Amino acid sequence: MSKISNNIDKLRAELPDRVRLVAVSKNHPAESIREAYQAGQRIFGENRVQELLAKQPLLPNDIEWHLIGHLQGNKVKAIVPYVSMIHSIDSVRLLLEVSREAIKISKTIDCLLQVHIAREETKFGFDPDEVRSLLADGSLRELPGISFRGLMGMATFTDDPVQVASEFDLIHRLFIEIKEAGFAGLPLFNELSIGMSGDYHLAVKHGSTLVRIGTAIFGSR
Ligand SMILES: *Cc1c(COP(=O)(O)O)cnc(C)c1O
Repeated sequence: MSKISNNIDKLRAELPDRVRLVAVSKNHPAESIREAYQAGQRIFGENRVQELLAKQPLLPNDIEWHLIGHLQGNKVKAIVPYVSMIHSIDSVRLLLEVSREAIKISKTIDCLLQVHIAREETKFGFDPDEVRSLLADGSLRELPGISFRGLMGMATFTDDPVQVASEFDLIHRLFIEIKEAGFAGLPLFNELSIGMSGDYHLAVKHGSTLVRIGTAIFGSR
């Protein structure tokens, strides 16, 4: 058995049933993705549009592609036909653009709102209050072509598990709050995308339903 399929089997055995594995294949060739596919993996995550578009035609059609990295407005049109989920919705402007392009091809895209939880200064993601007001706005909540499926977050890059746990706790509580507020029109708000190779154990303890794992499957990039 290949190393990649071994790694996938190990992760599957470890993850609870409610947690789906997104295999992050960025910087790895299509052959590596094919190995993971042969081990039964169907969800793959890429963080760059060009890379996803280059690999997609080389691989089986039943792969579910997730975009997990920052998406520029001018790339939305190109990517919308090929992705089932975008984890990295980080502005209202981007949301409107995705809606516009999805409508044109009669598609509904599963979207996660990226929440800024890390200590690092980053340009990307909403603060919790911005998420609350976005979803309280009926005209945004009911955008055609968009299905709000949940939240995504990236913890601070640190060895300190206390810091990471507090950040995961913050996004988990926000997720529960929104789910329980039961906004009309958000029946499918049930995904929490947290956890990467270095912190997925903690993420699973804090309610993750989608872990995005690259290195622990494909090795270092
Ligand atoms: C690269 C990447 C991952 C996976 O990181 P690993 O540490 O290799 O598991 C997860 N999420 C995002 C947004 C990424 O860019």
